[in-house]
Amino acid sequence: MAGRLVLVGAGHAHLAVLRRLEVFTSRGVRVTVVGPAPVHYYSGMGPGLLAGTYRPEQAGFPVRDMALRRGAQFLEDRVAAVDPESRVLHLAGGGSLPYDAVSFNVGSLVPVSPDWAGHGALFPVKPIENFIAARQAIGRRLAAGKTTVGVVGGGPAGLETACAARGLARRLGRQPEVTLVAGGGLLPGFPPGLRRRAHAALAARGVRLRERERLLAARGEEALLSSGERISCAVLLLAVGVRPPPLFRDSGLPTDSEGALRVNRYLQAPSHPEIFGGGDCIHFTPRPLPRVGVYAVRQNPVLFANLRAFFFGGEPVAFRPQRHFLLAFHLGDGRALVHWRGWIFDGRPGFWLKDRLDRDFLRRFRD
Ligand SMILES: Cc1cc2nc3c(=O)[nH]c(=O)nc-3n(C[C@H](O)[C@H](O)[C@H](O)COP(=O)(O)OP(=O)(O)OC[C@H]3O[C@@H](n4cnc5c(N)ncnc54)[C@H](O)[C@@H]3O)c2cc1C
Repeated sequence: MAGRLVLVGAGHAHLAVLRRLEVFTSRGVRVTVVGPAPVHYYSGMGPGLLAGTYRPEQAGFPVRDMALRRGAQFLEDRVAAVDPESRVLHLAGGGSLPYDAVSFNVGSLVPVSPDWAGHGALFPVKPIENFIAARQAIGRRLAAGKTTVGVVGGGPAGLETACAARGLARRLGRQPEVTLVAGGGLLPGFPPGLRRRAHAALAARGVRLRERERLLAARGEEALLSSGERISCAVLLLAVGVRPPPLFRDSGLPTDSEGALRVNRYLQAPSHPEIFGGGDCIHFTPRPLPRVGVYAVRQNPVLFANLRAFFFGGEPVAFRPQRHFLLAFHLGDGRALVHWRGWIFDGRPGFWLKDRLDRDFLRRFRD
């Protein structure tokens, strides 16, 4: 059956489909990829982009070219709404796009409170290209003398981002003041041994840690914390967790309480078998999953197989998420903190391993 396939978002879970689009286009399926930018940046290297470990061209997938080379159309746009009954997508740019099957990989957003919007140089850690802009903003200020950096969020992204800001300064031969505000503590929910090493890593890098403090307001070059303390931060990075975009809920599709698209073990919306999804934007109903790229990456072959089965027949493949995955936090200076099934190590061997895995991932999916 020929037909129309639309991939919405060219994120981590769509890379295998993108790499093998000719399986569809060579058999008459009209494929359109919709994404806001021609390059998709790999999140695992985001903090490394800030630290200066990687150049942007080392950390991106040229998704527009990957699509065009395989006979698909690429629309540099965003999907703003879905009409699942008439099977039409409405684009932010104004057009509309009919589909026979659609797959969503639109990721997640960092929620930004209006009370923080008055800050002069505010960078949520998603999309990942914000790290490139933040690096330029910090670099410009450091070139002019001293600067201060605030990072909000005590999870892995906050830890990596604070260390990366220090790493960047070291690279440039400067000493900025970096403050990490960790409202729920540092690495909450992670094993005590890992948390101890994370505290030691921050202390060794001179990052000031404010635990059990929340960001109330930010304006100009200053942030107000819940204790009443004001911290100076010429650049403010937000790693306060992620949420699915409102797209699915606003379009009346079945979602979880946060607005993630509900999918079954075939990564397919049970109420609309022509709608698929992967990555941070889905709620995997058989077992809710943490929003980590590991799962998005593992969903690649499942989405490819099931989209192929939708158009050409064959047995669908179920997604079986692994229980354990490696955690590797880049510490901004050629070192990383690694956790694997209770085994923890850090330093240069940790970074060697992380860097190798990240580069392998890029090689595997990039043209
Ligand atoms: C700093 C940081 C470091 C991280 N490090 C790791 C790590 O080392 N390992 C790990 O497993 N996880 C890591 N994560 C988590 C990881 O980023 C996410 O789980 C991963 O990005 C999910 O991939 P995704 O493809 O679902 O979303 P994304 O990578 O966000 O991709 C979604 C794509 O869809 C596009 N898009 C969005 N909205 C629309 C729309 N309306 N229409 C069309 N296109 C749209 C976006 O532009 C984007 O290109 C990290 C997260 C952060 C913030």
